[in-house]
This record gives sequence, C-alpha cells and structure tokens, in this order.
Amino acid sequence: MAAYKIIDHTYDVVVVGAGGAGLRATMGMGVAGFKTACITKVFPTRSHTVAAQGGIGASLGNMAEDNWRWHMYDTVKGSDWLGDQDAIEYMCREAVPAVYELEHFGVPFSRTKEGKIYQRPFGGHMSNFGEKPVQRACAAADRTGHAILHTLYQQCLKHGCEFFIEYFALDLIMDADGSCRGVMAWNLDDGTIHRFRAHKVVLATGGYGRAYFSCTSAHTCTGDGHGMVSRAGLPLQDMEFVQFHPTGIYGSGCLITEGARGEGGYLTNSAGERFMERYAPTAKDLASRDVVSRAMTMEIREGRGVGKGNDHIFLHLEHLGAETLELRLPGISETSKIFAGVDVTKQPIPVLPTVHYNMGGIPTNLHGEVLRPTAGNPDATVPGLMAIGEAACVSVHGANRLGTNSLLDIVVFGRAAALRAAETMAPGAAHKPLPKDAGDFALARFDRLRNAQGSQHTSEIRLAMQKTMQNDAAVFRTSASLAEGVTKMGQVASTLGQIRIGDRSTVWNSDLAEALELENLMDCALATITSAEARKESRGAHAHEDFPSRDDANWMKHTLAWVENGKARLDYRPVHTYTLTDEVEYIKPQKRVY
Ligand SMILES: Cc1cc2nc3c(=O)[nH]c(=O)nc-3n(C[C@H](O)[C@H](O)[C@H](O)COP(=O)(O)OP(=O)(O)OC[C@H]3O[C@@H](n4cnc5c(N)ncnc54)[C@H](O)[C@@H]3O)c2cc1C
Repeated sequence: MAAYKIIDHTYDVVVVGAGGAGLRATMGMGVAGFKTACITKVFPTRSHTVAAQGGIGASLGNMAEDNWRWHMYDTVKGSDWLGDQDAIEYMCREAVPAVYELEHFGVPFSRTKEGKIYQRPFGGHMSNFGEKPVQRACAAADRTGHAILHTLYQQCLKHGCEFFIEYFALDLIMDADGSCRGVMAWNLDDGTIHRFRAHKVVLATGGYGRAYFSCTSAHTCTGDGHGMVSRAGLPLQDMEFVQFHPTGIYGSGCLITEGARGEGGYLTNSAGERFMERYAPTAKDLASRDVVSRAMTMEIREGRGVGKGNDHIFLHLEHLGAETLELRLPGISETSKIFAGVDVTKQPIPVLPTVHYNMGGIPTNLHGEVLRPTAGNPDATVPGLMAIGEAACVSVHGANRLGTNSLLDIVVFGRAAALRAAETMAPGAAHKPLPKDAGDFALARFDRLRNAQGSQHTSEIRLAMQKTMQNDAAVFRTSASLAEGVTKMGQVASTLGQIRIGDRSTVWNSDLAEALELENLMDCALATITSAEARKESRGAHAHEDFPSRDDANWMKHTLAWVENGKARLDYRPVHTYTLTDEVEYIKPQKRVY
C-alpha cells in the first residue's frame, strides 16, 4: 500500500453530513459547548434537503383545529404499524416547538392573512383520527427545505461550529471494544487524508435513492453512512421499504411536490377520469403515497395510462389559476416548464411514480444512538456512534413515510442527538489514545480502489445495479421478481472486483469518488433486495403480489441486514408496541384505508 500522510484532528463531536439533520445536530452540539466539526462532501446548502418543496409537518392548528395526537395517529397508520410508537410520540409532540424554533431561527415561512405560519394539506394528514384532511404542512412557498437549510447553516456559523467542506468521509474508526472513535476522510480539493478523532461521530449522510435508475434524489444520495456502518459489521434496518413518490416528472424523475395536490391538484387517466376517487374515497388524491403510487401503476397496467406509450398519468393544476400557482407553487411551475416543457397554467404535467425516500437505514433509538441488536438486547447501542435523518431508521416512518414527516424527523432527531450528547458527556473531556491501527482499514480500501485496474468502468457497474433495482424491487413485487433480483444483485456486486479507475495521475479523481460511492450503494442495494425477498407480506411501500395482505402475526417486526462479501444476512427485532408516556395509548393495528 502507498504511504499516505495523515493529517490529524481532535474534536468532541464530528458530524458527517450537512443536510438538515447534520446542521441541526451540529448547531445543537455548538450550543451545548462542544468543539464540533461538520464534514460534508458538498457545500452545506447544496445538500439534498435544499430540494424539499412541500413542507414540514406540525399540528400548529393555524388553519383549523389540530392536535399532536392526531398527527401521531396518522404517522402510525401511515407507517402501516411498523413504526416504533415511542419514537413517533416523541416526534409528533416535539413537532410544534421544533417549528416555532425554526421560525425564531429565521426560517421565512409563508404567512396567513393574520400573519401566522401558512399550512397546507398533504397526503395522509387527517383530523380527529383519520376523519378528514387537515392542513398541517408548514410551508415556505414550495421551497421549504431551501429556507430551512440556509437558516440552519447560518445558525451553525453563529455558534462557532467548524466546517470541513468537500471532505469525503471514507470509513469509521472502530475500537476493538466495539466503540466508535472517529472517522477517516479524504479532502476532495487537494487529495489529503484526514483522521478525525471524536467522542461522538454523528452520521447524517442522507438516503440512497441513487441505487435506483429513476429517483427524485440528488446525485449525492449514495448511502455513504449506510456503507460505513455495514463495513463496521453493524446491521441496516427495514431496507425493503423504499418510497415511490406518485409525481415524478415523466422522463426526468424531477419531483412535483405533493403540495401541488395539497393545493387542489388532481390526477387523471387516459379517459380523463379522476381515478383516485375509486381507490381512496375519503382522501382521494391525498391518500398516502404508497396508495396513490399503486393506484397509478394499476391504471397504467390496465391500459389507462396517458401519452403515446400509455405509460404515465396526468397531474392537473390548470384550474388553480395563475395567481395561486405563482404564490404557492412558483418552483414547480418553473420545474415543469424546464423538465416537461409544460405551462402549468394551461396544460397537465406528465407524471410517474419515482423512487423518493428510504424508510430504512441505520437503526437507532430516539436519542439518535446507533443500535447493535443482540439476542438478549434488541436495543443495545454502539458507544460513540449516532445516526440521524434519512440515513437513520428510528423508526418513525415504519413501512411508509408521510409527506412532511422527513423535514420534521431531521430537525427533531438532529436536536435530540445534541441533547443526548449534552446529557451524557462534558465538553473538552480527555481522549483515550487511538488504537494503533486507527485508519488502516479505511486506507486499505481507499488504496485498493485507487489502484484498481480491472476491466469495468464504475458507470457500467452502477447502471447494472440501478436497472436491477428498478426492475426487480419496484412499486409491485412478486416472489419471482424478488428472487431474480437477489441473484442478479449478487452477480452485479461480484463485478465490483473488476472495477477500473480512470485517471490516476493525481490523487484527486472524481472517478475514485464515484467508485467509493458505488461500493456504498451496492451494500444498500443488496440489503434492500434481500430484505424484500424475505418479507412474505404486503405492508406500506412493500407491495408483494403473491402475499397481498399485511400479516401482523408473522411480520410485525423490523428486518436487520448485515452485508458481508456481497451477500446480506438477515435477522429481525421487535417493533416497539408501547408509547413513551402515559398521555397516549398504544395505537392497535387496524386495516389501513383512506
Ligand atoms: C426532491 C425532494 C423533495 C422533498 N420534499 C420534502 C418535503 O417537502 N417534506 C419533507 O418532509 N421531506 C421532503 N423530502 C425528503 C427530505 O427532504 C429528506 O429526507 C431530508 O432532507 C434528508 O435530510 P438529511 O439531512 O438526512 O440528508 P441530506 O440533505 O441528503 O444531506 C446529506 C449530507 O451528507 C453529506 N454526505 C453524504 N455522504 C458523505 C460522505 N461520504 N462524506 C461527507 N459528507 C457526506 C452530504 O454532503 C450532505 O451534506 C424531499 C426529498 C426530495 C429528494
């Protein structure tokens, strides 16, 4: 192995990722007095959170009566009873102060006539335990994530947090006793290698949408935190639950927010029929995402798709009028013009269900502490390691996430991680010496890839992976498609050994960065398809045609997947069927209808 010069850093806390989750945690750690570094592979305000459009859920009750217990009920029902109810209670209760806190930090929310935070309807958000839609999504026009991310970055700078921008985290530094001691990173600007020692490493690296061919997520959403955790011998949880958003623009996959339907938009098939009335008589176009995506897929399969190939659906906004579109949905008006050539004041938008969100991820408790479940203790934690945001699985979204609950998740659990750190450690505590081999594992992998001179380009292997996931782990799944998917993904993963890295003349090399990301994506893809193949029921986003019903007796449990040598090994842990306090009761499983 080439000798790499290592530059050492020591912090109380190192946060990996500067999306909404990473920035909220970084800021909180700064406020608690910790010497905090935030490492990010892209400039903080370019993180995928910036693309979030529709809103952040909180029962403020600004438009009509609302209650955090109704929000909790909707979230449990949305999760198809796979969510942990203690964590869901925590998130929905904390939502109200979390949004006011964002307002006070400076987030420029849209306003009602009286000057209150504007709230719009969103899929699956109902009043009075599922009775009728309620306006719960707090919005800054259709640029809510942008507003939140910029505000949080300013708050981090105000509290003196340090940023390592365009640093690519490679692998965790794990101690022989199983604790996490820091993280290794590669400076993309000059190719130098950095060793960050910390009492706590917080992974906030976002989702892995890019394991699929068509997704709404940024090119940076490559499951890097998932990969690091897998390589440290820790499991990933509930990876079979991948959310398809009903309205990606046909062809490009760009997102049209559910807020568009929240503002009154609706879907039609080739007969011009508003078909959602048949599938979800009460919530109609605002049913939960998995329900709408499946209904659209059924319409297309039965020959009622629109367009030349009868292979997509129309989303209508024309009737809303130019003024409302300009005020409430300016961003998507622009996106539709650019990516579909459509003037939304006159024509419908061609849309198709597109991969959007990963419910699964790194298992944690509601303090953000990463779990290493054992036979005796399914809730055992890994000292020194936290995970938050889309990278984590708390699990508040269970088998299907409600729209607006992710922006909520990232701020609530970003904050919770900082509160936990403040409770359990003191700023400036002395560090134990690092293990002698600290960083060797990361560097060996880095060096192997840097010098890889096989026969296949990163992009070829990536495409094979994305096509397999798109075909075999889709909106509808069958025993045959999943079994084929597991075999194919195993074959694709085995080609990683034949990778060829392009230009080796400098240490800085974008092909190398993409190869590192591909290895991370591959672990996610293997965990997803293997977990999906094993789950013999339909629940939330996992719609299994050979097992069309939910099976609580056998399958109300979280999947755990350890990925080793191109294969995923599975086990399970129980869902938390209890609440956090006595102020609410456990919500018993019911049939899920909208
Ligand atoms: C188009 C779109 C619209 C959405 N709209 C909404 C909405 O309206 N409401 C809602 O609730 N949710 C919405 N979501 C979901 C929500 O926005 C995301 O789940 C959430 O923002 C994820 O935040 P995060 O902080 O976990 O990750 P991200 O924002 O993805 O940030 C990940 C961070 O990790 C860093 N990183 C990753 N790997 C590495 C590495 N190896 N080394 C260093 N840094 C690394 C990146 O640089 C980045 O800073 C939307 C998602 C999309 C894609």
